[in-house]
Amino acid sequence: MKKSIILVGAGLANVLLGYRLKQRQPEATLLFLEKEAEPRLDRTWSFYESDVTPNIWQWLSPLASKVWDGYEVRFPTYERRLASSRYASLRGADLLKKANLEGSVRFNAHVQIIKNKEVVLSSGERLCADAVVVGRGFHQPLGEVGFQKFYGLQILLKTAHGLTVPTVMDTTVSQSDGFRFIYLLPWDERRLLVEDTYYSDHSALEKASAREKVLEYIKSRGWEIEAIEGEECSALPIPLFEGKQEPLSSEIGVGGNLFHPVTGYSVPWAAQVAENWDPFSSDAGVKLAEIRKECNSSHAFYRGLNRMLFMASHPSKRRKIFEKFYLLPEPLVQRFYAGSSTRMDKIRILSGKPPVPVVSALRALFRRSEFV
Ligand SMILES: Cc1cc2nc3c(=O)[nH]c(=O)nc-3n(C[C@H](O)[C@H](O)[C@H](O)COP(=O)(O)OP(=O)(O)OC[C@H]3O[C@@H](n4cnc5c(N)ncnc54)[C@H](O)[C@@H]3O)c2cc1C
Repeated sequence: MKKSIILVGAGLANVLLGYRLKQRQPEATLLFLEKEAEPRLDRTWSFYESDVTPNIWQWLSPLASKVWDGYEVRFPTYERRLASSRYASLRGADLLKKANLEGSVRFNAHVQIIKNKEVVLSSGERLCADAVVVGRGFHQPLGEVGFQKFYGLQILLKTAHGLTVPTVMDTTVSQSDGFRFIYLLPWDERRLLVEDTYYSDHSALEKASAREKVLEYIKSRGWEIEAIEGEECSALPIPLFEGKQEPLSSEIGVGGNLFHPVTGYSVPWAAQVAENWDPFSSDAGVKLAEIRKECNSSHAFYRGLNRMLFMASHPSKRRKIFEKFYLLPEPLVQRFYAGSSTRMDKIRILSGKPPVPVVSALRALFRRSEFV
């Protein structure tokens, strides 16, 4: 029998789930209900090949706008190229099209009430389906948080920039408002995303001065701008403690707590759900809870690191934590980003002379006995 599904939100997690559903159950009818008037063009979602299984990489990487052979980081004391895993970026500007789901989205459809197999729009219209999945982004209160905030420009340069792989962190810039670094994605020889990023105590970002700083950085690299083609600006919450609110049983994406607590990234978890979860199965809620539990197994440790970052270290010293981290072996770095750090990894991350005062570090780590 032909099955129908309503997906609340046409963001990252739902689009990946819809894409995989269409491949596996082509007869299913998909309806995305999206409150915005059009797809978010100002979104770039990146991930490492090592974040996902080879099977997931096979279907996910063709959706990427660009795949690179590795990436690099820059600190005042060293530069490092990490090349054993590819790096890929999906773009809001073309994800729906690449996933061939454009025709399944109804825009300007704000869902107000969500039930098991029914939703009600703000217009009062009721819609039913065999399954309802919710992927509405960050909306839940996460308690005490820090922020990863950024302002980026999509730039076309007059001449080639010379970069062959992304710079995930260029931390050689002046430090302010917490830990600051520049993120660079070279789309082609002359096109770049240049994003100024802060691990900050506050979500506020003054756009005009953030833009000035990005332009200053571009100039400092000797690059001349031909055109500015786009802008990205946002603040992701970085949780310091476990959230108190349980997500809905059909909630995926960051609203379903399926994201990395330190980076705020969610592609690997969205892809895992798309790969391993059948929203039509009779025990879909139970299965999703199991996936969530598995994905979140190291989260208490990562939230402990967040507390070290935000509560134990003076904002001006936060860079030191990352400077120490990126000297660790590449497989450990990969497992960290994939959210699958082993017990040994955790010991290695914490061992050696801590870059923040020992007593504050321990106090932050063990607060409210969250550490496991
Ligand atoms: C600028 C930015 C850059 C990021 N970069 C990365 C990255 O490089 N890698 C990574 O892994 N993560 C990244 N993240 C973090 C995270 O992966 C994203 O926030 C991701 O978009 C979360 O996916 P999602 O599907 O949960 O929510 P979203 O992609 O935010 O999708 C939710 C959708 O639901 C819609 N919606 C909400 N409420 C309703 C409603 N009531 N009715 C109808 N529609 C509704 C929203 O309009 C939105 O379109 C980034 C986040 C931001 C903000």
